[in-house]
Amino acid sequence: MIKYIRVQKGQLFSCCIMIMFFGLLIFSGLNTAVFAEEIEDFPEIRREIELVDEAFKEQGLKPPRHHAYPFGGHNSTVRRIVAEYRDTARGITAGINFPPYNFENLHTVAVFENSNMEELKRWVDKVQLFSKGLLIFYTHAVLPEDLYLYDVTPEKLEEILDYAVDSGVKITTLDRAFEIKDEPRIVFTFDDGFDTDYYTVLPMFAERALLGTSYINTGKLGEEDMLTWDQVKEMIDIGWDIQCHSHTHPNLRDLVEN
Ligand SMILES: [Zn+2]
Repeated sequence: MIKYIRVQKGQLFSCCIMIMFFGLLIFSGLNTAVFAEEIEDFPEIRREIELVDEAFKEQGLKPPRHHAYPFGGHNSTVRRIVAEYRDTARGITAGINFPPYNFENLHTVAVFENSNMEELKRWVDKVQLFSKGLLIFYTHAVLPEDLYLYDVTPEKLEEILDYAVDSGVKITTLDRAFEIKDEPRIVFTFDDGFDTDYYTVLPMFAERALLGTSYINTGKLGEEDMLTWDQVKEMIDIGWDIQCHSHTHPNLRDLVEN
């Protein structure tokens, strides 16, 4: 009987050792895989960012400090590489995802033609409750007709803009948002560099003595319906915030995963 129990214990012991051994093997395998992904470089992502910097410098401008991911696409590798070049990067739902700013209620909210206006207004109401609140509204072209799904009409943009103005919350640019301490703030951002930023949005904001932020694709400037460098420079001169949305607008996450 005693001998039997000893055998059982012995088996149990070697079984534990085996489990630990294989566990370690699997764990180190997984770790190596994660580590390999972390250290692997993706020159196409770097190129997208570096081309933007070069284009800005060619125009005699300082390279942008902020980035918005095209299609919102990012993962840990994309974030790590972009963070080498930029102070912040913006997704399309969760707000700025690095560095870990201590901003409460940090959200990015789409202002599209089919967005629910009451919901948009509720975001403005909500951000006021947080002394470090940062609310980022984003959209694309601002057009009266022939809109794509991700665009908005001037009327709708104006409605949420005026609601934000009437709320008394500070409306600022992304670049300046990080300099403000202990006061809620709202930033309106416009992706892709459509020329409606210049023709429609800029005057709408100027009428209210406000400024906004455009995330541009330097490789697309001058194309049909897109901003030109002359327009961009004029916007910068009056205080408009021009930031980076990549050079050619690829989904940076696809450059890692495919
Ligand atoms: Zn975009």
